[in-house]
Amino acid sequence: MLAVIAAASLVLALLLYLELVKARRILRDVSHAIADKDVPTIKILGVLKDMKHDLEAKYEEAIHSRENMRIILQNISDGIIILDRSGRILMDNSAAREMVGIKERKSVGEKLVELVDNYEVLSFADKNLKSFKSDSTEISILYPKKRFVRCDAIPVILSEKEEVLIILMKDVTKERELDSARKEFISNVSHELKTPLTSIHGYAETLLDDDFSDLETVKHFLSIIEAESARMSRLINDLLDLQKIEEGKAVFDFEEVEISDVVKYVSRIVKPMAESLGVDVKISCNSGITVNGDFDRLVQAILNLTDNAIKYTSQKEKGEKRVELSCGFADKECILIVKDTGLGIPSDSISKLFDRFYRVDKARSRKVGGTGLGLSIVRMIVKRHGGRIEVSSEKGVGSEFKIFLPILMKG
Ligand code: ADP
Repeated sequence: MLAVIAAASLVLALLLYLELVKARRILRDVSHAIADKDVPTIKILGVLKDMKHDLEAKYEEAIHSRENMRIILQNISDGIIILDRSGRILMDNSAAREMVGIKERKSVGEKLVELVDNYEVLSFADKNLKSFKSDSTEISILYPKKRFVRCDAIPVILSEKEEVLIILMKDVTKERELDSARKEFISNVSHELKTPLTSIHGYAETLLDDDFSDLETVKHFLSIIEAESARMSRLINDLLDLQKIEEGKAVFDFEEVEISDVVKYVSRIVKPMAESLGVDVKISCNSGITVNGDFDRLVQAILNLTDNAIKYTSQKEKGEKRVELSCGFADKECILIVKDTGLGIPSDSISKLFDRFYRVDKARSRKVGGTGLGLSIVRMIVKRHGGRIEVSSEKGVGSEFKIFLPILMKG
């Protein structure tokens, strides 16, 4: 909107400027004529003088406002290109030049077709220079970087002989990316919920038709129903939690937290599970390291990492099954490490690991009751604490997750 107002004002300022240039010329001619014929009266000269001063002031004002408008147009984030009817550039701003990839320093006076490669931009300009009607479209630009741009063409008649076409360009890449992320998210959630529901439905149907003669099978089916419904409710809870943290609605109670307390607390929770899965859990922690954190949220983050470490280590067919939790100082930060001797993560998966619903092996994650949201939640929690997380892993050897948090400075 600002771009339209600014462009219209620029055109008006341009018009006024042209009119004033014309009027000043006429006034000069009249003054010369009167002077030459030697017929001035003091009164006429006085009036002409006043008119001249008046026009001079308006002329200065027009130049000033044109310059202001030019500065505004150059600095707004929307792109503007003004073309004459032959497609020559009368004015362009830096945003437009960047969007369509105009590199030439002097573009004014040049034909658009000579400076721009993008076919969609050129055909939009060409079509509207011919039709001279208001029009809008969305185009994609691949170079210098991929983006989606909404283009509006506004035809303006300045005078009988002067017509210009204003092309406004708005970068809508973020909106498009959000749209596609939203679509992907909905399709992921539907898929994630559909799988356990199908399984629950299938086993419940089988049980309904059963005569319950084999109680072992009945128990087995019921345990699958229980596990799948538990996973579904975990998935929904994780999703709600993630959304709350992302939207900043989750309340974090920041206080002085002794980091070794977090590690000890987590190790107590995971011990029974680790034992039942045959995984050895070791902790080694320096005491006296404090951070400004939310104890429960830090427990949730370390628990997610440790839970993964134990689960994906227990899946290993042979070799040592060990998980180590440690904490200490790393330069001026506090470092928390969860290290395992488990399945490991292939290197091409590392960059996607924290994406929602990403799993290296979907079937395996489902088997251990995973939701694919645990690491996204960990990353969010670490971010809210002003920290960062790093992963290193080797397939078949093990993984190491490191959380760095700012140390609480006392005093
Ligand atoms: P999930 O609920 O599936 O465990 P997460 O977000 O916690 O989801 O983890 C995403 C994926 O990262 C997992 O499905 C698994 O493939 C991989 N992963 C996470 N931690 C480990 C680990 N310690 N060892 C091996 N793979 C892991």
